[in-house]
Amino acid sequence: MLIDSHAHILSLEDPEAAVERASEVGVGKIISIGTGLESSINTVELTKKYNGIYSSIGIHPHTASSYTDEVMSEFEKLLDDPKVVGLGETGLDYHYMNSTKEEQIRSCEAHIYLATKHSLPFVIHIRDADDDLIEILKTKNLNENPGVIHCFSSNWDYAKKYLDLGFFISFSGILTFKRAEEIRDVAKKSPIDRVLYETDSPYLAPVPKRGKDNEPCYVEYVATLLAEIKDLSLDELNDQILENVCTLFHKIPKDKTSLI
Ligand SMILES: [Zn+2]
Repeated sequence: MLIDSHAHILSLEDPEAAVERASEVGVGKIISIGTGLESSINTVELTKKYNGIYSSIGIHPHTASSYTDEVMSEFEKLLDDPKVVGLGETGLDYHYMNSTKEEQIRSCEAHIYLATKHSLPFVIHIRDADDDLIEILKTKNLNENPGVIHCFSSNWDYAKKYLDLGFFISFSGILTFKRAEEIRDVAKKSPIDRVLYETDSPYLAPVPKRGKDNEPCYVEYVATLLAEIKDLSLDELNDQILENVCTLFHKIPKDKTSLI
């Protein structure tokens, strides 16, 4: 069974058809990611229609300027839902800077606070801001499995720092890109019980679908390459990933029932 641990299902052109295609190739679980209050509420609704879809809710760093205490208390109410399994995606993105540094840091810290308070993991998007994020994380009293660095796109030095803080590292379609030697090196060196894979659909479609809209069924390509890098069969890797996903997102049951 494949698991897409990070997808923006509601941003896909035809979410329903994409979920069906994912189910056909053996995807059994998907974590659908909210990027703001509205998209988080909608993704929580979506999880009610499918057996194997879960949600993580939060404000993306691009829209961190929409952060308010009221929005966070709306998120807190949603955490009672059994299928809301994490906070975020949150994080820092100094590449696009769609929100100011201060707005991003304030929002990120609020997500970490709420996740820690409710013993839930948080999902981190990080770009060109690793040093600031690591400084912030070091000052927090983090849970044992605090969260995941999603769509990892940095180097081994940073990966090591996140691993030492207890984080999981998640690999997206970038792993399959020709010039991504550094990312494949991180995948090779990361402990097998700390890695995840994902699509981040509709973005970053893996080779050989590069250039197309990404969707959860393409997680197969990322999983296949990761299995090769880790010198495991695809089945062996997938069993380990199920273990990892359910350890981190501990509200997700460790079963192999169908997605739909
Ligand atoms: Zn994302």
